[in-house]
Formats: sequence, C-alpha cells, structure tokens
Amino acid sequence: MALREGALRFNLLVNSRHFYKFISFIGVRSVSDKVSSKPVTSGDPETAGDHLIYSQEHFALKESLRKIIDQEINPHVDQWEAEGKFPAHKIFKILGSAGFLGVSKPVEYGGLGLDFTYSVAVAEELGNIRCGGIPMAIGVQSDMATPALARFGSAELKKEFLLPSIMGDKVACLGVSEVGAGSDVSSIKTKAVREGDEYVINGGKMWTTSGTQADWICLLANTSDGPPHRNKSLFCLPMNLPGVHVARKIDKLGMWSSDTAELFFDDVRVPCKNIIGQEGMGFTYQMLQFQEERLWAVANILTMMDNIIQETIQYTRQRKIFKQPVLYHQSVHFRLAELQTEVELLRSLLYRATALYIKGNDVTRLASMAKLKGAAWPGKWVTAVSSFGEEWASPVTFWSADFTEIPG
Ligand SMILES: Cc1cc2nc3c(=O)[nH]c(=O)nc-3n(C[C@H](O)[C@H](O)[C@H](O)COP(=O)(O)OP(=O)(O)OC[C@H]3O[C@@H](n4cnc5c(N)ncnc54)[C@H](O)[C@@H]3O)c2cc1C
Repeated sequence: MALREGALRFNLLVNSRHFYKFISFIGVRSVSDKVSSKPVTSGDPETAGDHLIYSQEHFALKESLRKIIDQEINPHVDQWEAEGKFPAHKIFKILGSAGFLGVSKPVEYGGLGLDFTYSVAVAEELGNIRCGGIPMAIGVQSDMATPALARFGSAELKKEFLLPSIMGDKVACLGVSEVGAGSDVSSIKTKAVREGDEYVINGGKMWTTSGTQADWICLLANTSDGPPHRNKSLFCLPMNLPGVHVARKIDKLGMWSSDTAELFFDDVRVPCKNIIGQEGMGFTYQMLQFQEERLWAVANILTMMDNIIQETIQYTRQRKIFKQPVLYHQSVHFRLAELQTEVELLRSLLYRATALYIKGNDVTRLASMAKLKGAAWPGKWVTAVSSFGEEWASPVTFWSADFTEIPG
C-alpha cells in the first residue's frame, strides 16, 4: 500500500518541475514509454515489473542517473583519484540540478518528495561510479548529513542549509566521529557551551568526509554534563566561522578521491537557532540518522559487489592456467557462486528493511544487520577476488583498496 502511495506521489510529480529535473537526462518519450508499458513476462522479472520495492519509475530514475555517471563522473575518476580529491561543488551542482541529492526530501526544500525506496535506488546506481570515495561523499550529502535536519530542523535552518545542499549549491559534511569516539558515539568530547544567544564550541572531529571542501557541518556536540545519551545536540555549523580549522587532510589506503579531514573547533560561536530540533536530543537524532545511512551504504556496496563479480568473470576468462581460462576451473565457479549468493542474500535483507522502513517501522535491527554484513565483507572479498589477480592494475584488484570497512 505504502509503495503504491509512493508511486502515486511520483506520478503526480510527472507534471512538476522536480520531475523534469531528471527527466531531461533521458528524454520525455523514453520515460513515458516505460511508465505506460505493460509488465513484461519474460526475461529478468526484477527489472520487468515484478521487483519487490522498485517500480518502472525507479528504473527510469536509475537510468537517468547512470547517464550522469557515465558522462560527468566516470571519465574523470582516475584523475580525481590521483589528485586525492574530486570537485564536490561541481559534481553536486550537476546532481542537485537533476534532483538526485534529495529524492526523498521534502519538495518545499528542493527535494522530489519521494519515499526512501528511491534513495535506495539512487544509492544502488551510484555504486556504478568506478571508485568508492565519490559515491560515499554523495551519500554523506544526500542521506547522512541531512536526514535529521530534514526531519527535526526549523524552517529557517532548512532554508539556509537543507535547500542549498539538495540543490547542490552547498557541500555538507557530518561531524560525529572523534579520535576517541568512533563506534562509541556516546564518548564524544566536543563541547558546545551556551553563552546568551550563542553556543561556544570547542573540540575536534575525525575522518570527516568532504571536510576540506564542505560549506557546513552537521555537528554532534555535548551541550551538558548529563547522561551521555541525553546530553548531546546536533548543530548546523558553517565551516567559514572563525575558529573552524581543517587540521589536515587524512591519507587513506583507498577512497582517494574523497577528501577526509581532521577538524578542530576553537571557541567557535554559533547562534542558538542553529541547533537541530531540541537540545539534548542529538544522540537520538543521530541514531535515527544512522538508519538511512546504513541502508544507503548497503545499497551502494551491493552494486560494487555485482560489478566486482562481473569484472572477475571477465578477467579470469582472459587469463589461462593449466591450459584453460582460470574461470573454467570448478573451484573458481564455486567461489563466484558463493559470492553472488551472498550478494543476493544481502539484497533481500536490504529490500525487506527498506519496505518496512517506508511503512514507518523501526528497522534499527535489520538495517544494522545489513550494514554489519556489508561492512564485514570487504576483507573477505579482497582476499577472494585478489586471489584471481594480484596485479595492482588489474580490474579485479582495482576495487580492493576502496573496500574500506566503515563502521556505523
Ligand atoms: C573513509 C572514511 C570516511 C569516514 N567519514 C566519516 C564522516 O564523514 N563523519 C564521521 O563522523 N565519521 C566518519 N568516519 C568514521 C567512521 O564512521 C567510524 O566512526 C570510524 O571509522 C570508527 O572509528 P575507529 O576506526 O576508531 O574504530 P572504533 O570504532 O573506535 O574501533 C576501534 C577498534 O575496536 C574494535 N571494536 C569496535 N567496537 C567493538 C566492540 N564492541 N567490541 C570489540 N571490539 C570493538 C573495532 O573493530 C576497531 O578495530 C569515516 C571513516 C572512514 C574510514
């Protein structure tokens, strides 16, 4: 029922300016053909009308995003990886203008007003970007730094920070992790002390994606000395305020094109109105925000895994051992079949959690399980696929270093 309602809302958008933002990438004719076409009964049922959570509109959305990826992003990935940064403002403007940075965000703030299945579809498609860093930075912008603002922020804050982030005019980052507080979010030390109409912020954040380029940060800080789950608040903090310092750009094993920063806050003064929702609710808001982050991350990694399997098949077909292609050895078949089965198991969990989530259910358990499985795989996958090709330049090992395990 909820899925039908989502599709209905989407159809209503067909005549709105938001729909045309992404329709322009595929042409009106091709979309209307898809929307009106009868379900196909042969071929892959999941792409032909019998998908668990996607409609033809989801596939149209994915197809238009794929065009941007192929034209505007993938041709430059190697260069941006080598440079250690991608031009976030330029790429986000392209994605924002087409509606891809806020598919499930409110229409009044530039979003498409669709349900979260569309965000999952976008995350899946972004997995076709030929590196891990850029999709992750896009995810931070669309589904990690902004969900709490969209849900609990004041109209004024949403106008100042959410709208330009969805439109691709401002780059957002998320400041939760600290040197001594990674998985254990409740242990953060960054403090915001109220003085009159302002908070004065001191502390530091670690591993902040897009931290060197961001215009604002969704920052978690302690606003009292109370119990650790009730003493925190989320703030929208402009990165150009006096006292905000980018201490360094962190070098990483992979995900080079995404800049990751260590930040310091030295007596940064921010107006009280920049707090998201209620003071003291920051931990709860952040935990809720993590649900969408987890589902988004799993959707994204699934496509990468699919691509890795396909590239492994192609690569092992070309290389020969014992007078036949590596691929034709039975143990290789067994391994690939096992990996593909794991992908499909995770996909089923993701779709189930997403379907429940858009009906308003708390999916903390399922989303966390999915993220646990998705995040735990990298080491195993690197071992599995790199055993088929150890050269750094091979398409198989190409992905290995970007398969960083990011808890959360
Ligand atoms: C590329 C990248 C981008 C990131 N971007 C952001 C960002 O934009 N914003 C942000 O806030 N954070 C970001 N992070 C941080 C990330 O979300 C995690 O918070 C952080 O990586 C986890 O901290 P940690 O590495 O110190 O591990 P910790 O969580 O501190 O864990 C340290 C060690 O303890 C182990 N461990 C953890 N929990 C337990 C347990 N219960 N029992 C036993 N062992 C345990 C872990 O496996 C690990 O080996 C990013 C991280 C990376 C790698």
